[in-house]
Amino acid sequence: MRLVTFDEYRIGAWETDGIHDLTDLLEPVPPFAAPYRMNAFIAGFEGLREQVQARRMSGPAIDIEAVRLRAPSPRPRNFLAAPRNYVDHGAEMQGSLGSGGGTPKDLGLFVKASGCLAGPTDDVELPPIDDRRFDHEGELGVVIGRAARGVDADHALEHVFGYTLVLDATMRMTDTLREERTMRKSFATFSPSGPCLVTTDEIPDPADLTIRLWVDGDLRQEGHVRDLIVDVPGLVAMASSVLELEPGDLIATGTPAGVGPIHPGEVITVGAEPIGRMRLPVIRRAW
Ligand code: MN
Repeated sequence: MRLVTFDEYRIGAWETDGIHDLTDLLEPVPPFAAPYRMNAFIAGFEGLREQVQARRMSGPAIDIEAVRLRAPSPRPRNFLAAPRNYVDHGAEMQGSLGSGGGTPKDLGLFVKASGCLAGPTDDVELPPIDDRRFDHEGELGVVIGRAARGVDADHALEHVFGYTLVLDATMRMTDTLREERTMRKSFATFSPSGPCLVTTDEIPDPADLTIRLWVDGDLRQEGHVRDLIVDVPGLVAMASSVLELEPGDLIATGTPAGVGPIHPGEVITVGAEPIGRMRLPVIRRAW
C-alpha cells in the first residue's frame, strides 16, 4: 500500500484512482497534533488493517494533483541519517568534496533536525549564504513500524513499516568553514520526503530498489540499494543500539555517487519504483 500525508496532515491510501482518505479511522486530534497522526496510524496499523482495506476499495477518491503532499512521515521523533554509505560515493568524497572520512561502520549515524522535512513537491530553499556550495543527495528513507530497541540485523526488517525517498540537501564544508554536519544538513526544507510511504508487503527486500536523481532532467545519481556498505537491516540495528526507535521514525540510508551542486532555478527529481518521484524546484530562500 502507498500511504500519503496531505493537506492539513490528513492520511490517505494512494490508489490508481486517487487518494482514499483514512483520517477519520483515527481518533480526532487538535490541529497542533495533526502532524503526528502518521505516527499514531503506524503504531495502530494492525488494528486498523481491515478498515483500511475496506476504505481502499470504496470511494470517493481525491485527485492527487488537487492536494498538497507532505512528507509521508512528517514528525519522526528520531530522524537519523547515514554518512557515506556507497563505495562509489566514498571515492568521490575522498577526491573532491573534501569531507572524505568514514562510513557508518566507523562513524555511525548522524542526526538531521526533523524540522527540515518538507513535502515531495515543495521548494528546496537555499539560504542566502554567499560562496558556499549546496549539494543534492538522493536517498532511500526507512520508516520504522514497531518500536525497536537493541534489535539485531537478522530481525531488524520486522521493525520496518515501509520505505520512502529523502533528499538529504547539504551545505558543504570548506577548508576553513567546518560547521557541524547537523547544521549544514538541517536548513528548513533540506529534507523533502515522499511522494509516499510504501509498506513492506510491497517491498519485501529494500536491496532490490534503485534510487535515481535528476537535475533539470539530467540523470546525476543512480544507486542500487544492494550496494550499501551498511545495509538497511544493519542501519536499523545500529540505530536501535543507541536509543529506542518509535513508529514513524525515519532513517536516511546514504547517497550513491554523482553528488553535485544545486542552484536556484533548477528542478531536482528523485525517484525509485515503486515509491514514485519527488519534483523539487530549487529557489533562493526569502529570509
Ligand atoms: Mn546523505
